[in-house]
Amino acid sequence: MKITMLYGGQSAEHDISILSAHNIVQQIMFDVYTVQPIYITRQGKWIKGPLLEEPSAFPEQLRLSSAQVESWCDNEKGSSTGININPGDIAEEDTVVFPILHGPNGEDGTIQGFLEILNLPYVGAGVAASAAGMDKIISKNLFERAGLPQVPYIAFDQREWQSDKEDLIARSEGSLLYPLFVKPANLGSSVGISRVTDSSELVEAVELALQFDRRIVVEQGIRAEECEVAVLGNDDAHVSVVGQLVKQSDFYNYDEKYINNTVEMQIPAEIPDHIASQVQDYALAAYRAIDCSGLARVDFFLTNKGDIYINEINTMPGFTQYSMYPNLWLGTGLSQRDLIDELIQLALRRHERNS
Ligand code: ADP
Ligand code: MG
Ligand code: MG
Repeated sequence: MKITMLYGGQSAEHDISILSAHNIVQQIMFDVYTVQPIYITRQGKWIKGPLLEEPSAFPEQLRLSSAQVESWCDNEKGSSTGININPGDIAEEDTVVFPILHGPNGEDGTIQGFLEILNLPYVGAGVAASAAGMDKIISKNLFERAGLPQVPYIAFDQREWQSDKEDLIARSEGSLLYPLFVKPANLGSSVGISRVTDSSELVEAVELALQFDRRIVVEQGIRAEECEVAVLGNDDAHVSVVGQLVKQSDFYNYDEKYINNTVEMQIPAEIPDHIASQVQDYALAAYRAIDCSGLARVDFFLTNKGDIYINEINTMPGFTQYSMYPNLWLGTGLSQRDLIDELIQLALRRHERNS
């Protein structure tokens, strides 16, 4: 069986995707699978790489350089056929696609829809769950219906902002306490997100967020620890131990989170058992609320009073050797090799049921 790794991509999380792909290839059981890398450039060009039959065939030096990945794929295959490779090149017999892509056009249902049309099994959530998980407004609505506790927030769109900015500022300040977090509805990796402490910053932050999306969320900021849980499975999903981010600042931006590795993980989190099991229950409820399958990482805030709030669900979490998702499973007793194999089996099982 062949695993087609789709990685890179047009989102801000391009580099993390390459690191994740590299890590996954190192862990794949090459006695059972071969790997077909397909690299998506930042401009959206798909490039097919050489078929890999051993982990070292994905060279270490390609880990962080998209230019190197691009020329590696190009040289080996000799065909960079423009915007898209022929879909028939992906839709081969006995293929499972592993779309290790984050953010818009990767984690939001678009690539999943494309793979559905090709009738291919793929790792991770389906179309609707991916779209719902990526959209912070839709997911908040679903979480609310599932009875999950969330920080107070308001949501609005560009049209409302342009027609009555003052009213939206008054509504934010009337129902939420500073500091506030302003977020575009559809992004990840902290892109376009600001933490603000007064009205003038709020206006700037909304205008910034509107550059990334037409729809905006303004949330009450809370002083809290951040805890994360890994979920794995289809209808039979189960949860990992709870992990905690050891924070040195109030807000992590992309570089701090992913490039500088300044965020340490504590696995398992040092929290009381009853809190941990509540967090795990919420994680599973969130997973079901968006009808997720395959995998997800569910993120929470935990205050020092013991209050738990769900923050978000990520349907294709980072998968580098330092990432929370695989390390949560390691801390639960599941090796990366077995985890990756399980993800492939889950993809096949869902495909069989749906087709
Ligand atoms: P993304 O999908 O980009 O990861 P998040 O909603 O997780 O967006 O926000 C990014 C980070 O910002 C969080 O991990 C947390 O550190 C901080 N943050 C976001 N919302 C809040 C909030 N309401 N209160 C406190 N910190 C927050
Ligand atoms: Mg996210
Ligand atoms: Mg997040």
